[in-house]
Amino acid sequence: MRETEQSAELVRCTPEADWLLERIARVCYNSEDRLECDCPDGRCSRCRERRDKFLAGLRDRRHDSIFEHAHATFRLVADRGVTHELVRHRLASYTQSSTRYIKYSDGIPVVRPFFASPDREAAWRRAMLAAEAGYRELLAAGAPAQEARDVLPTCTAAVIFVTANFREWRHILKLRLGREAHPKIRALARMILAELSPLCPVYFSDLEGDA
Ligand SMILES: Cc1cc2nc3c(=O)[nH]c(=O)nc-3n(C[C@H](O)[C@H](O)[C@H](O)COP(=O)(O)OP(=O)(O)OC[C@H]3O[C@@H](n4cnc5c(N)ncnc54)[C@H](O)[C@@H]3O)c2cc1C
Ligand SMILES: [Zn+2]
Repeated sequence: MRETEQSAELVRCTPEADWLLERIARVCYNSEDRLECDCPDGRCSRCRERRDKFLAGLRDRRHDSIFEHAHATFRLVADRGVTHELVRHRLASYTQSSTRYIKYSDGIPVVRPFFASPDREAAWRRAMLAAEAGYRELLAAGAPAQEARDVLPTCTAAVIFVTANFREWRHILKLRLGREAHPKIRALARMILAELSPLCPVYFSDLEGDA
């Protein structure tokens, strides 16, 4: 058994996303001329202030389709329970490590639970060792990974790439940062939020209060 931590790596994001969103949305109001400024990259404080105010107006009026023009791809490490919850979000694209094709010959990678007591941790460890013994026994008996996987625990770690537009990320984060969400996916959502917030503060930073 190999313990591993959850993680969220931002792999790729629409460059200058907030600038792009303002540019696109201004067509609705025939106000593209408002983008003109002497600064070279639209990043001066005057531009930022104007853009934040404009995007906040879109967000508050639920003009959310604008935010579909920007995308972000993450490489996440999480357990299979969490990835199963993630893939319920239908407006995103996913690629996940396969328990059919990967043989965990050097130990099952796991994300440990958030334990409330040492007793519970000890019980979990015993169950993991039993699962690993079963997995190894099946492989030794010639079972392919896709058969041996039937004894893998829910906390088996996986790598999953997720690509979604900003509107869908906001939706995912709203649901998964909430108190009702599982502690593991809440922790992962906080990591994703920390990456997305600086890229489009107006659209993501207000979610922090939910965490
Ligand atoms: C705390 C919590 C507990 C949960 N518990 C369970 C559980 O016990 N069992 C279980 O099965 N699931 C459970 N879920 C999963 C939940 O039911 C949703 O499947 C999941 O959160 C995806 O959300 P979504 O459908 O809003 O989002 P997405 O698939 O991300 O879609 C985004 C939005 O697009 C729209 N949309 C997408 N597809 C359609 C469609 N076909 N028709 C109409 N509108 C659509 C909706 O407005 C939707 O909100 C739980 C989720 C949470 C957050
Ligand atoms: Zn400027």
